[in-house]
Amino acid sequence: MKSFNDVVDFHGHSCPGLAFGYRVAMAALREIGQEKASEDEELVAVVENDSCAVDAIQVLTGCTFGKGNLTYKDHGKQVYTFIKRPSGEAVRISVGFTSPEETEEERNMWKQYTQGDRSEEILKVLRNRKAKKTKAVLEAAEAELLKITKVDVVLPAEARIYQSVTCTLCGEEVAEPRARIKEGKVVCIPCFEGSP
Ligand SMILES: [Zn+2]
Ligand SMILES: [Zn+2]
Repeated sequence: MKSFNDVVDFHGHSCPGLAFGYRVAMAALREIGQEKASEDEELVAVVENDSCAVDAIQVLTGCTFGKGNLTYKDHGKQVYTFIKRPSGEAVRISVGFTSPEETEEERNMWKQYTQGDRSEEILKVLRNRKAKKTKAVLEAAEAELLKITKVDVVLPAEARIYQSVTCTLCGEEVAEPRARIKEGKVVCIPCFEGSP
């Protein structure tokens, strides 16, 4: 099993968002009774945001954008659904978190930061504040952090390999379902929109 440090290595920094994703992925793997998707597409993740958290989901569950078993829905919600294929057995995890109370100093520093102050003193306080929040997320009782429900889900279509066609304007290949017709000719989306 990968650790939070493995996730930080992949993501490039430690942050509260990554900690959310870590907690969600760990709970999901336990609930779904599976350490990591052992074969491509056995486990499918549907994420409803594109925040730092999703990197933790990818590292820990093996559900990745490139493999086609990570689906992104632009809902701006901290909600994650993990679906087992082919059974459709799924767990939905929603994150709710109350940040630790801020100190007067932190509030002042944050205000100065938003006004453009990037002095070392301010950055240091804000870094500490972020580290404090990350730690709080990692250590929070699961019941206070995550709402976990078992659901049944209609499975997303399997990742498909499409035929390519050649764009008549730029000459580059484009997957057939993404091709457009412009003045009777097959083109790619950038050419269709006039910005190749
Ligand atoms: Zn981050
Ligand atoms: Zn083109």
